[in-house]
Amino acid sequence: MPPAPRKPVGWSEGPSFPRFIQAGLAARLLSINPPRSILLRARHVVPVASPVLPDGALRIAGNRLRWVGPWPDAQPGADEEVIDLGDAILLPGLVNAHCHLDYTDLLGQLAPPRTFPDWIKSILAAKSSWTEADFVRSWLHGARQLLDHGTTTVANIEAQPHALALLRESTPLRIHSFLELTGVRLRREPASILDEAEALLDSLPPHPGGVGISPHAPYSTVPELLRLSAEHARRRGWRLTTHLAESREEFDMFMYRRGPMYEWLRHQRPDDDCGQGSPIQHAARHGLLGPDFLAVHVNYLWDDDARLLAHHGTSVVHCPRSHAYFRHQRFPGQCLAAAGVNLCLGTDSLASTRLGIGTRPELSLFAEMAELAARDDTVDPAELVRRATLNGAIALGLDHELGTLQPGLLADLCAIPGRVGDADVHDAIVHHRGPVTTTWIGGAPAAHAPGSAITPQHA
Ligand SMILES: [Zn+2]
Repeated sequence: MPPAPRKPVGWSEGPSFPRFIQAGLAARLLSINPPRSILLRARHVVPVASPVLPDGALRIAGNRLRWVGPWPDAQPGADEEVIDLGDAILLPGLVNAHCHLDYTDLLGQLAPPRTFPDWIKSILAAKSSWTEADFVRSWLHGARQLLDHGTTTVANIEAQPHALALLRESTPLRIHSFLELTGVRLRREPASILDEAEALLDSLPPHPGGVGISPHAPYSTVPELLRLSAEHARRRGWRLTTHLAESREEFDMFMYRRGPMYEWLRHQRPDDDCGQGSPIQHAARHGLLGPDFLAVHVNYLWDDDARLLAHHGTSVVHCPRSHAYFRHQRFPGQCLAAAGVNLCLGTDSLASTRLGIGTRPELSLFAEMAELAARDDTVDPAELVRRATLNGAIALGLDHELGTLQPGLLADLCAIPGRVGDADVHDAIVHHRGPVTTTWIGGAPAAHAPGSAITPQHA
């Protein structure tokens, strides 16, 4: 008969409330003197790629997960730290597949626009009154919010290259920095724009995240810039991302050579690429589509577009609260999913997030899951959690490292309070509000909710 598993001090039968010590102190103790191995226990562990574990546990050694399973099988070692999260749901750190951290402090400053070109004009005007210090401060506020809401990896659109190295070093987040490129007036050759971007990304110090290129959108670029962006990114093994088929106005510009965006831009950029097909076809024609490409928004599709995206293995990033802010037509998620497209979630920026009544929106993928659940009841809560974790990791080419809780992967995770039945775990995640209890990145605590607590104890 195998020996009974050893229990941490203070353990009572069944999931329990932990004995409280200040989480910040625990974080400091663990980072100053990291134990060889840590066991985390929670009422529910959600590995994502395998079934939910009631009364589950996981073992962290260094920066990686070494074991995930039922608590009774954990068998803590003599010198192992045991942290009992009690009535909590432990899940992988969330992967935010599209964000603009530097617009965080624009929350509530821009009313939903009448047309999409009106929006572009209003955000350009708002940005023109900001200093570099304003953007840096806003970026840092956004990074803090992501950590407090369980995000551990983010694909961020970077428009402040001067401060990028310092900003990336300022946070434990895995920042995947996509340098934003625009160019419509041909004042600069696309080749020189790309050479400069590549030199800047090469100059960044090593970082646990990655880098990539983001030609902004079809309407704010010329085809040569799209083509060269894809060429450079693929030569370097970098990811690519673009806002694509976001608005009705963009669709009409490329499909029909008409509408307010076409009329606004026809004298600012060459228009011989308009009236040639849908924005998705435009992206395909100029070499963007591929498994290394994250197409952001994709709200307006032509007949064969979903199949085209799936054929190229392109991931689509849906940003539900931004979608609601702009009052777009219904997101074609069912059509894309049926075609086999990998769907993931992003927050976009707080500049384009609806203000709730009595609440102050923050950069939270939990809020994005809840928004999508409210708008599309055909998406299973477990699928929503998958889109906020594993699917984002797939889009970034990181699913061999993160996005699920499996032995060998990086120990990126978060926990939320949850005293729910086994069948309600995913629903509780989707409808979680506010900060998480704790966020861990690479085996180290990175954020804790004020007043929350964890109990590291020797087994
Ligand atoms: Zn965006």
